[in-house]
Amino acid sequence: MTDFNHTRAGFHLPEGVTYLDGNSLGPMPVAAVQRVAAMMRDEWAEQLIRGWNSAGWYVQPRHVGDRIARLIGAGEGQVVMGDTLSIKVFQALSAARALRPERRVILSDAGNFPSDLYVAEGLARAVDAELRVVAPEAVADAIGPDLAVLMLTEVDYRTGRRHDMASLTERAHQAGALTVWDLAHSAGAVDVDLLGADADFAVGCTYKYLNGGPGAPAFIWTHPRLADAAQPILQGWMGHAAPFAFDLDYRPAGGIERMRVGTPPVIAMTALDAALDIWDGVQMADLRARSIELTQRFIAGVEANCPDVALNSPRDPLLRGSQVSFRHPQAYAVMQALIAQGIIGDFRAPDVLRFGFAPLYNDERDVDHAVEVLAQLLRDGSWDQPHFHQKAAVT
Ligand SMILES: *Cc1c(COP(=O)(O)O)cnc(C)c1O
Repeated sequence: MTDFNHTRAGFHLPEGVTYLDGNSLGPMPVAAVQRVAAMMRDEWAEQLIRGWNSAGWYVQPRHVGDRIARLIGAGEGQVVMGDTLSIKVFQALSAARALRPERRVILSDAGNFPSDLYVAEGLARAVDAELRVVAPEAVADAIGPDLAVLMLTEVDYRTGRRHDMASLTERAHQAGALTVWDLAHSAGAVDVDLLGADADFAVGCTYKYLNGGPGAPAFIWTHPRLADAAQPILQGWMGHAAPFAFDLDYRPAGGIERMRVGTPPVIAMTALDAALDIWDGVQMADLRARSIELTQRFIAGVEANCPDVALNSPRDPLLRGSQVSFRHPQAYAVMQALIAQGIIGDFRAPDVLRFGFAPLYNDERDVDHAVEVLAQLLRDGSWDQPHFHQKAAVT
């Protein structure tokens, strides 16, 4: 059994804060401070350029990838780190489309995160493909013989709705298409099983539920049956078969290594590596069970005490990730009022109050306290003050 009291102790959680926004940026692992300081002092400062070999910087993207693989149902040597998620979406999608050159359609849904859709739109323009965006419930029926790639984010960033990865992948395969799954709100949040679902490509970020820190590098996975056939469109030198031969011609490295582009962010990846120590003792089945307990308790509490808000997430926990959202016509001001009282959740336009539950550091006390404060400020109307309506640049 996973010991969630132990994992909670691994984080710095500021005094007076109930943190329910780990689906945007996870809190800082206590060990990250020492680890990054040691890397800078003992490796960068002392070993200088030699650190690429002597401190293992060059192989770090694969080593860290292996630690993430376990959390998403992938195998060793199948995941590599680097760049940001938007770039990894581009890489996976372009490689998938290139494997189905005779087909033009890229299908996604309107619940996807805008960056994924922007990237797909840009790629479609460049390679003469067509991006089709349908409602999340309409995805299965929109899969047809013209489909090249089904590109979905498994868990919706606003509602928490979770797609059925295995069945949609099967349906796409039956139609002769490939799948790209974005795990931004799944990795570290739900029990992902990429190999079990027989997915083709997957990508995700590490600064949300994995707690790697702001700007932590993204990951990419290719199913082993495709890894040596997938052509990276961003042909960077670190994805070359022999980067230090400095050939003028590009030859992709074998397997997932070809999805590397350029020099990896070693300092950021060192913080992420420290965060992954906390995950070593975690069983994803235990995490999923805890997450369901917490989200169910939150929904029950809010519905019993806050008549002004409406559930905006699937009621069935099996159809949900680890976040819950409610709608309120003045959600922005309500969230600002909550934050002023130390309950940090998120506002998402136009009217969504979003709360992420991370069993690594959230427990029943957080749930009950958030319910109590939300109920109180909705009851007394204290959220409706001019300063709570003022928008910040980053919301
Ligand atoms: C958070 C998120 C992103 C962010 O991409 P970055 O390149 O890391 O800024 C992209 N897609 C989805 C689905 C996300 O949830």
